[in-house]
Amino acid sequence: MGKVYLTGAGPGDIELMTLKAARVVKEADILIYDRLANPDILDMARQNCEMIYVGKQDGKHSVPQDDINEIIYQAALKYENVVRLKGGDPFVFGRGGEEAIYLYERDIKFEIIPGITSSVSVPAYAGIPVTHRGITTSFRVVTGHESPNKKISQIEWQTFLNDETIVFLMGFHNIKLITNKLISLGKAKDYPCAVISRGSTPEQKVVVSTLENITKDSKGLLTPAIIVVGEVVKLREKVKWFN
Ligand code: SAH
Repeated sequence: MGKVYLTGAGPGDIELMTLKAARVVKEADILIYDRLANPDILDMARQNCEMIYVGKQDGKHSVPQDDINEIIYQAALKYENVVRLKGGDPFVFGRGGEEAIYLYERDIKFEIIPGITSSVSVPAYAGIPVTHRGITTSFRVVTGHESPNKKISQIEWQTFLNDETIVFLMGFHNIKLITNKLISLGKAKDYPCAVISRGSTPEQKVVVSTLENITKDSKGLLTPAIIVVGEVVKLREKVKWFN
């Protein structure tokens, strides 16, 4: 019986992969991977390494999670080194926990290899610090996948602090609903907001705007994309470094 490495691949720039992730990819007998911001990572694997794509796009699962769990489990019965590769960090909206529990319940050994999450690193590549002394004392990473019009929301929209930076993942297709919701809760229409598309890759695009105008201004940007809401967005003027 093999071992499964639930591995974070980082946000895109291949150098933002950890040394540990790179090692297990090189040693893998099988790679089970999602849509990755940097597919070059797959070239690091051995020539005879089996590859299975179980990609999801914007939260729409091309392969249902139950099937993915089973694919990983079956791979562990067959191979020594099984690498389950995910963008960013496996536990930040990566469903890595569910996969770990599935393996635990079947007595399969696993390791978690954390990755650099896009929620912090993609803003960093856009020159946006998620916290900044004197501007914000906290930041929150929120799923943007849930429609803000949902009657009973899992998200506590009312509890966002005034100065809190809010990072929405998987929310680009809901951007109009999200920004309208924040405005309806009392945030100023001209409150700073940014969208970062394909962060840390050569295709990175950043649009800085306001809650009111960001939907229009970010139209046409490609996914994956992150929405950042907060005064810290303005720091990009001085902190911008990556083109
Ligand atoms: N586990 C991942 C997040 C998975 S959810 C992590 O820790 O980063 C997928 C969402 O992450 C996308 O919808 C998008 O909002 C964001 N994302 C991932 N990579 C990105 C990138 N290179 N640029 C912009 N957004 C990215």
